[in-house]
Amino acid sequence: IKNVRKEYQNGGVNTEVIKGVSLDINKGEFVSIMGPSGSGKSTLLYLMGGLENCTEGTIEINGKPIEKMNDTDESKMRRKDIGFVFQFFNLIPHLTVEENIILPIIIDGGKPKKYKDQLDKLLNLVGLTDKRHSKPSQLSGGQQQRVAIARALINDPEIILADEPIGNLDSKTGETIMNLFRRINLEEGKTIIQVTHSEESAAYGNRIVNVLDGLLV
Ligand code: ATP
Ligand code: MG
Repeated sequence: IKNVRKEYQNGGVNTEVIKGVSLDINKGEFVSIMGPSGSGKSTLLYLMGGLENCTEGTIEINGKPIEKMNDTDESKMRRKDIGFVFQFFNLIPHLTVEENIILPIIIDGGKPKKYKDQLDKLLNLVGLTDKRHSKPSQLSGGQQQRVAIARALINDPEIILADEPIGNLDSKTGETIMNLFRRINLEEGKTIIQVTHSEESAAYGNRIVNVLDGLLV
């Protein structure tokens, strides 16, 4: 991330939300982004994932600037290189656990059958093999987040971006999820960047990045 600025436009008014941020994150790191509400943490994460565009500056993934990628490259990058996990899980209620996990493949026009082994492996990793035919409403919050994590991993991305992944879970369930992230980091070698409000959850990572009013401090 090099000299990145981000302005949002609302009713003709520009608000600068990210005010000049530079940051290197190495492969295999587990980084926690912390800071007060409204400081720009989610915005920074969405910029990293190409869900928002920088007003100025560049973000490179594996040496490739996101803003120079054409739309196809960028959406491909989002699906193949990056997995997203959100605070409110964002599962599709009428799809089963395994259908939710395989959804990125279906959206991509891929053949779900080809991913059977990967699906079985992920269900085992997140401990939900026996729930594969359940609907999200039949699962606890922690189980739903485990489905979302498996979905983020279906394309075997190198990078996982997680925006307050345990923000909506009780502390014991949050611990289970953080242990899962730790395993994914250490055993699968994934680079993880999470936004969190909790010191305990930040401690699972190996670096804390503090954001204050659109700047790193
Ligand atoms: P929280 O901890 O509450 O989630 P955050 O650090 O993630 O906060 P952001 O969501 O990045 O904060 O928002 C940073 C600032 O940008 C806030 O002032 C917010 O109101 C503003 N903002 C975020 N998204 C938009 C948008 N789409 N349009 C206009 N302003 C926005
Ligand atoms: Mg946020």
